[in-house]
Amino acid sequence: MIEKKEIGLGTKAIWGGEEEGHPYRATQTPIVASAAYGYQDIDHWYDVALGEAPGFIYSRMSNPTVETLEAKICSLENAESAVAFSTGMAAISSALYTFLQNGSRVVSTKDSYGGTNKVFEEFLPRMGVDVVLCETHSHEQIEAEIAKGCDVLYLETPTNPTLKIVDIKRLAAAARKVGAIVMADNTFATPLNQNPLALGVDIVIHSATKFLSGHADAMGGLVCGAEPLMAKVRHYREINGASLDPFSAYLIIRGIKTLALRVRQQQVSAQAISEFLLTEPMVDAVNYPGLPNHNNHKIACEQMHGFGAMVSFVLAGGMETVTRLLPQLRYAHCAGNLGAVETIYGPARTTSHVENTLEERQALGISEGLVRISVGIEDTEDLISDLKQAFEFVRNASCR
Ligand SMILES: *Cc1c(COP(=O)(O)O)cnc(C)c1O
Repeated sequence: MIEKKEIGLGTKAIWGGEEEGHPYRATQTPIVASAAYGYQDIDHWYDVALGEAPGFIYSRMSNPTVETLEAKICSLENAESAVAFSTGMAAISSALYTFLQNGSRVVSTKDSYGGTNKVFEEFLPRMGVDVVLCETHSHEQIEAEIAKGCDVLYLETPTNPTLKIVDIKRLAAAARKVGAIVMADNTFATPLNQNPLALGVDIVIHSATKFLSGHADAMGGLVCGAEPLMAKVRHYREINGASLDPFSAYLIIRGIKTLALRVRQQQVSAQAISEFLLTEPMVDAVNYPGLPNHNNHKIACEQMHGFGAMVSFVLAGGMETVTRLLPQLRYAHCAGNLGAVETIYGPARTTSHVENTLEERQALGISEGLVRISVGIEDTEDLISDLKQAFEFVRNASCR
């Protein structure tokens, strides 16, 4: 076994979960496309079914390709155990439903991924769960709500799409005092930049669709943490059935191999693009935790190793300017996705908060002029000159 703590993330991304090699001496993870696994010896079969002997029974429960991915995320996040899901939202909702029931209380923040916000606002209350969503910036309010009683504290930092930062260590410590389970969505930061388990979080969640897969060609979700917690999450998945298929697991494994290379390049460009946007007169505000004027830059420096590839900015003139600027970009998809090798632009209305109404977005303080950039791996200079020409075009068009 490779000593997990002493090697870098780039090395873990390659070898994590694959230290022992694969069947047939394959150098790549085989895709095991089998729904079930056969046994001649009924006693052996029964032992495997009971979990008393190693092996596989049925791919909703476990699958060799999916297990390799689970082992890889354990390596990246220094987790004991992991459970893979069909999508990020399946991972998030399953983790919440595993630990919440009628009468439970969950504390989180107003800023979270749109789908997660819907689980909090629409589905959990229906189950009789008391949901408290605090102002994301108010650590005092979050701590006060935790102290009133809390079964699960759910964090997401940096937030989508406004890139707010919450202090993981401080809030996890408050939750620990009342015996709450702490969950954190680490999708935006990626394991390269932030390891919430080391900051006191119990359960780390990823939408593997994003930076982990990295190529916008597969969907998946991952949940990781200590085995006693993961055993419960795994049981929930086995019964409720949002398991990951082995083809997607393979693509995510392949994507993860270049995670460190991709994100290192992406965040160099993200910093440069943020600094450029600060100088652009048509931009009212720039959100990037790597900017010294970001209001939680100091916390970001303490808990992150890098500031990530997500940037957002507010265009003067709102949606009207957005609709004129975005079509001018040459090296960008306008799409509701992030974390890919291509740069992707999108307004909150059609991306992070597509699930929300205009009124809901306004209540969350998400301006209609807000544009999110998922910075790709193109050359930094090309991305900046692309933005420059798009701004020039809009400026000239409005003078005419
Ligand atoms: C995309 C995303 C999700 C949901 O993941 P899916 O794979 O689309 O279900 C959850 N959290 C964050 C931060 C995301 O960006």
